[in-house]
Amino acid sequence: MAEKKTLFQKIMDREEPGDILYEDDRCVALRDINPQAPTHVLIVPRKPIPDLDALTEQDESLIGHLFLVAQKVATEEGLTGGYRTVFNNGSDARQTVAHIHLHLIGGRTMSWPPG
Ligand code: AMP
Repeated sequence: MAEKKTLFQKIMDREEPGDILYEDDRCVALRDINPQAPTHVLIVPRKPIPDLDALTEQDESLIGHLFLVAQKVATEEGLTGGYRTVFNNGSDARQTVAHIHLHLIGGRTMSWPPG
């Protein structure tokens, strides 16, 4: 039996609405529905890896690719002042969707440490 699709797979497959601004054969970039900054984009691999602990060596170049897509989107969004990239992993980090996604957040000055 096929595994149940994740929310992000449903968005990639156009079964759920989503504001997709970039896609290629390995990933999709979509605007976060609850943005935490003027630019808040999620870069999501097509492969439904549930969390960072499930990564294998086979995923090594895929993870690098997500960061290069983040760089491209940041340029297109005009984030010349910088930006933050984040993977929330697991419940302590408040990961809520079990399909890894790189947050690209920018367009305002941020604080550190994160909450
Ligand atoms: P995380 O908490 O790191 O797992 O991030 C999940 C992110 O997905 C949150 O920032 C949510 O706002 C975002 N999100 C949830 N549902 C949707 C959706 N339908 N479209 C776009 N982003 C979503």
